[in-house]
Amino acid sequence: MNRKVIIIGSGPAGLTAALYTARANLNPLVLEGNQPGGQLTITTDVENYPGFPEGIMGPELMEKFRTQAIRFGAECHFKHVTKVDFNARPFKVWVGDDMFTSDSIIISTGASAKMLGLESEKELMGYGVSACATCDGFFFKDKKVLIVGGGDSAMEEANYLTKFASEVKIVHRRDEFRASKIMIDRVMNNDKISVIWNSSIKEILGSKEKGVHAVILEDSQSKNTIEENCDGVFMAIGHKPNTDLFVDILDFDSAGYLITTKGSTATNIEGVYACGDVQDHVYRQAVTAAGSGCMSAIDAERYLENN
Ligand code: NAP
Repeated sequence: MNRKVIIIGSGPAGLTAALYTARANLNPLVLEGNQPGGQLTITTDVENYPGFPEGIMGPELMEKFRTQAIRFGAECHFKHVTKVDFNARPFKVWVGDDMFTSDSIIISTGASAKMLGLESEKELMGYGVSACATCDGFFFKDKKVLIVGGGDSAMEEANYLTKFASEVKIVHRRDEFRASKIMIDRVMNNDKISVIWNSSIKEILGSKEKGVHAVILEDSQSKNTIEENCDGVFMAIGHKPNTDLFVDILDFDSAGYLITTKGSTATNIEGVYACGDVQDHVYRQAVTAAGSGCMSAIDAERYLENN
């Protein structure tokens, strides 16, 4: 059955697009991806989503988005898109050998955590190295952990980790944070947290059998190295957009984000729209992602009406 709209991805952007296109009677098919609900499902308290004055847990918020979209007829499937072809109409989307066709496409594949790129980091991922404090913090009860980064994520995760860890050290490559003041204040007022400024991790020491026991830190000015003992390392150094599917098909900016026309969510292919973190490296908030998901739905609806 040819679809009117296929939505690829199911974070705040994709599920808002699903809600709006469902309410426009377009019966959207949402191919949710490997992480249904997106990045908010690996976060804890969301305190800045309007309408929840007491805050809400990320997974619960995304479940509400999903329930609301399904209530109006969106079909959400736990399927990961493996290939697309936007050369001819209807557009084609594959999940393994299964092919789906659609008159319009909304891309909301979001972004994923960045890593330092060390071999030891790759090897020890899940054995003392993590990119998700919410998922793995629990395993570091009464242990010492390091968190890498100087943005809001690093501040948020450092605070969260103090619920479990006995000591949290933030390793930052510069001498000031880029995080917002309120988040920095919380970190600075937390007795369990200290900061190692002007430093980068050059190596993570440990084994799959015994986990992490230390890192090698390099001072960014003197280039001197020291060994710092720790039981775990959490990465919070930002995200990269999930755009592998669209290489050589859609236009990207220099940072790898999909380019959309100013004031719209249109990509370089008519009928294909992009919303949320996959096309936004500036705001990257749940509420802005949801807003752009709504824009994509309206853009797709207008396109379908006119064609
Ligand atoms: P971010 O703001 O891009 O910060 C990334 C941090 O990691 C920066 O401090 C950066 O250092 C550092 N970094 C990047 N690459 C590195 C590398 N290879 N080695 C060492 N350090 C590296 O990312 P984010 O903290 O994930 O935040 C993303 C967006 O989400 C922001 O807009 C943020 O405000 C928002 N956010 C909001 C909340 C909240 O309000 N509750 C929570 C989390 C995130 P430099 O500073 O030197 O570049």
